[in-house]
Amino acid sequence: MIIDCHGHYTTEPKDLHRFRKEQTAAANAKDKTALPSRASLKMSDDEIRESIEQNQLKLQRERGTDLTIFSPRASGMGHHIGDESISLEWSQICNDLIHRVCALYPKNFIGVCQLPQSPGVPPKNSAAELERCVKELGFVGCNLNPDPSGGYFNSPPLTDKWWYPFYEKMIELDVPAMIHVSGCCNPAMHTTGSYYLNADTMAFMQLILSDLFKDFPTLKLIIPHGGGAVPFHWGRFRGLALNNGRPELDEIIKNNIFFDTCVYHQPGINLLTDVVPVENILFASEMVGAVKGVDPKTGFNFDDTKRYIEKAPRLSDADRAKIFEANARRVYPRLKTKATAKAAV
Ligand SMILES: [Zn+2]
Repeated sequence: MIIDCHGHYTTEPKDLHRFRKEQTAAANAKDKTALPSRASLKMSDDEIRESIEQNQLKLQRERGTDLTIFSPRASGMGHHIGDESISLEWSQICNDLIHRVCALYPKNFIGVCQLPQSPGVPPKNSAAELERCVKELGFVGCNLNPDPSGGYFNSPPLTDKWWYPFYEKMIELDVPAMIHVSGCCNPAMHTTGSYYLNADTMAFMQLILSDLFKDFPTLKLIIPHGGGAVPFHWGRFRGLALNNGRPELDEIIKNNIFFDTCVYHQPGINLLTDVVPVENILFASEMVGAVKGVDPKTGFNFDDTKRYIEKAPRLSDADRAKIFEANARRVYPRLKTKATAKAAV
């Protein structure tokens, strides 16, 4: 079985965009009377089916993957838009929509939630929505935004006690978080090209110099997009850790930090799998997402990452089985109640 731990619903029914546009306009105008009503949303099951079957499900079948851990469009979370109540309503709508997809295709998708974060608002305020999604909707994790400002990096580091009450809720519910920023409103950064990778790299550096995992030995965090610049600069990070009296990186990350495989060329995956312990790598593609289209050099889609894992020269079949399935089951313990293996990889 092949589990893709990083997929977003980027082909949502069009009325969702109408709602968000109106909600954003009302928020920017600070006019609560102009907010659209949730009841006005018109998204039929047929529309959802069509959007999934023509895209994510079609690609799953073509590429031979089985289950996608599925969350709302990350760039659409927009935590910087409006206030906490706007963020909560928008998150609930997006999470409920993911739940509908998972209910329509229970073998192919399982949910991960967006959180109702908002700049300056304590992360503990997101605990209730996480709990609702896990307990009522059967979700198995969340996307945690380290920078709800949308590109200004003015939140306390992920290792600050500011975040601890939220981590406590994650531990209680036995779910991991993927560290994932949203759309960027800082014109100096392109959202998926620079902001995402900057945030991934920043998160890793915060984590390796901290005592976070002493305080939370079972906390599990996934750093997406192959860990940003981390694998390429492993020597720099390792040296900095050792110079600061920290253990080897393999030891630091062992049970707590994981990297996905959203790296869109063979040499990048070769490097990732050469440098990062196999136990800390989870298969992912982020389809349909950041980089669409076919690589003219290979003739295959940039985000068809399964091909790169299959061809990575240092991996054994046992390693691939870990990356494709076993590691995800360890990091997302709640998968066991939902997904059953269809076939051994
Ligand atoms: Zn993503």
